[in-house]
Amino acid sequence: MKVILTGDRPTGKLHLGHYVGSLRKRLEMQDKDDYEKMYVMVADAQALTDNFDNPKKVRDNVKEIVLDYLACGINPEKVTIFIQSMIPELTEYTFYYLNLVTLSRLERNPTVKSELQQKDFNKSIPVGFLCYPVSQAADITLFGATDVPVGDDQLPMIEQTNEIVRKFNSIYGETLTECKAILPDNEKAFRLPGIDGKNKMSKSLGNCIYLADDEKTLYEKVMKMYTDPNHININDPGKIESNMVFTYLDVFATDEYFSKYLEEFKNLDELKKAYQKGGVGDVKIKKFLYNVLNEILTPIRKRRQELEENMDYVYEILQKGTNEARVVAKKNLEKFKKAMQIDYFN
Ligand code: ATP
Ligand code: MG
Repeated sequence: MKVILTGDRPTGKLHLGHYVGSLRKRLEMQDKDDYEKMYVMVADAQALTDNFDNPKKVRDNVKEIVLDYLACGINPEKVTIFIQSMIPELTEYTFYYLNLVTLSRLERNPTVKSELQQKDFNKSIPVGFLCYPVSQAADITLFGATDVPVGDDQLPMIEQTNEIVRKFNSIYGETLTECKAILPDNEKAFRLPGIDGKNKMSKSLGNCIYLADDEKTLYEKVMKMYTDPNHININDPGKIESNMVFTYLDVFATDEYFSKYLEEFKNLDELKKAYQKGGVGDVKIKKFLYNVLNEILTPIRKRRQELEENMDYVYEILQKGTNEARVVAKKNLEKFKKAMQIDYFN
């Protein structure tokens, strides 16, 4: 049976990239009966690898992320939500995995490479940051996860994890399970770009539409979105490639939204053709996108506000999940240590 595990870094509230890249899949998976366990981890220890000098940011965002989970519909009856740093067994796994990975292998990781460029560590890269893919391998394998619903920026981490699993098993005997990434159904959602149209939407880059954004903020962000700079008059032909509004419509605008908010077109194909031909203004497509997103986000926003009034309940869930995860972690660590022949007094 499947064991499902994913996590998010508490570096900010969750955004539309999380929603389409991973959360939607988690919701779909939690409601099937084909898995043994499903875990969602708040990766605070990982967040500290590049935010070690800002502990308050990480601490405050733990609760924001859990609020987002519950507001989206992650069901704590089905899913164990836990805090990474409260599971010290993860650190033990990581320590031994570090022996199975070379420095050059870590430096080759394309996601880490581009993050290093963005973060401007000024050549003094914290060792912890460079090693976070190894700690991610520990997160996945300690819980025996087989299925990891993620966006495609995480594929190098899954690959790294499976390399560690194979190496571990070949040296210490069959102990760990390989895993696979579960990507979104819609290829356009593999890596949702930010509203700047340059990079992937990312908490660290300030180019996000957050699930918690109010209507006004959402409207302003959509109105600011990058379209086609040469589409100046309504009648000019417009480009849909690298036009952020169309990139988002590709991900979010199903046919039913057209009958509701933009009746003159039946579906996205029709709208695209009309825009390319000329005659459709940017404000019109932006208003449509706003309506679509607002319809998706309104129930999430409402539920989030209700939950904010009841933080005791939120922390209770988190504590219960963390306790549960700890029990599994302790049990699995014993097997791990036995395989490594470091179980001295048994
Ligand atoms: P940070 O900037 O701190 O790295 P982030 O916005 O990249 O934050 P993470 O917590 O690193 O968010 O990612 C959590 C999960 O969400 C991962 O599975 C990741 O693949 C997915 N994800 C994040 N951003 C996007 C995106 N823009 N499109 C699709 N999936 C995404
Ligand atoms: Mg990230």
